[in-house]
Amino acid sequence: MQIEEAIGLLKKMRKDRPVPKSKKIQRVKNEAIDMAIEALGKQTPKPFIWEGGNPVCPVCGEEVWDMEWCNYCGQMLYRDVEDNDE
Ligand SMILES: [Zn+2]
Repeated sequence: MQIEEAIGLLKKMRKDRPVPKSKKIQRVKNEAIDMAIEALGKQTPKPFIWEGGNPVCPVCGEEVWDMEWCNYCGQMLYRDVEDNDE
């Protein structure tokens, strides 16, 4: 299963789940699902962005020192092709 597919399923579970007996249980379950979605998302490399000539994490906005992951939030990163026109 691809990470994007797993994230999609988790988001669907969060939405579709039948109403549980206790609001506290629902809150805790939602929190667990959100944590899983966030953790999986950080494993999916995102292109870092350039700000004033420095590479910056697209998630937390901190300057990136290692080009493969963010030292601050743990987001996996990659260098986007600089000369694309998108
Ligand atoms: Zn970051």
